Amino acid sequence: MHRRIGVAAGAAALLLTLAGCGGGGSSGSGGGTASGTGSPAAAGGVGGGGGGSGSGAAAGAAVWSKWGLKPLPPAPAAPADRPIKLSRTGPVPVFSRVPTTQRVVFITIDDGLVKDPRFVEMERELHVPITMFLMNDAIKDDYGYFRSLQALGYSIQNHTLHHPVMSRLGLAQQRNEICGDQKILTAEYGTAPYLFRPPYGAYDRATREAVRACGPAAIVYWTDTMEITGIRYQNGRLRPGDIILAHFRGPQQLKGERMTAMFANMVKRIEEQGFTVGRLDDYISRPGQAG
Ligand SMILES: [Zn+2]
Repeated sequence: MHRRIGVAAGAAALLLTLAGCGGGGSSGSGGGTASGTGSPAAAGGVGGGGGGSGSGAAAGAAVWSKWGLKPLPPAPAAPADRPIKLSRTGPVPVFSRVPTTQRVVFITIDDGLVKDPRFVEMERELHVPITMFLMNDAIKDDYGYFRSLQALGYSIQNHTLHHPVMSRLGLAQQRNEICGDQKILTAEYGTAPYLFRPPYGAYDRATREAVRACGPAAIVYWTDTMEITGIRYQNGRLRPGDIILAHFRGPQQLKGERMTAMFANMVKRIEEQGFTVGRLDDYISRPGQAG
């Protein structure tokens, strides 16, 4: 199902109309536009850092071809001076893109409803970087599935316990949603999420307070939304630093297509516009992290 929900987003009271973000339902296609933007975190400061590589170049052309793809260009080296710097204090920043001039975009995959083993196989072979925003109701029947993706170097982030429209809840309930998911994800995956994505993109001032209280240090929005074969763009096409929202979906939500077909389509759309995929963690300096 896709839902349209108007929300007042933060102090800007921006009215957003959003397509449903997972949580079950029958159709993953269709309407709605995500016109909201968060304010990108300020760049600046100095420091070392470096970090892992987001490259899928290790896999040979034959392996890419097996999935109907051409090899993606290797991801550029992670910036030594990370463009997004998070701290433990103050209002949590909201960002919907990464300030960079590199021809790189970032893939985020939400909820965790459908757990297709073929997708793990695909990622083991191609190593296209993803960041997962997991909601407990969707993953609690099989936490282990996401452990196999985490083992490939992809981080797991907070997306609430039950996928509510946060801006319709009070502070205490919002804290319960975020702290509850934080506790479970930390216990299951051995590392505390440092990013939060609000279901449907709906957040308010209390959400930011609750995020801070529960541990994550930023709210991650998105610029573009992956559907089944195409990407719905906020600016007509991909731009450097765009964050793409996708979901763990299967044939029921993808009109008969598998998760792997959706993912291959997304990689094609990225590649044909001359971009490659970066590792979001490499562009963000966590609280207390040098660089
Ligand atoms: Zn969601």
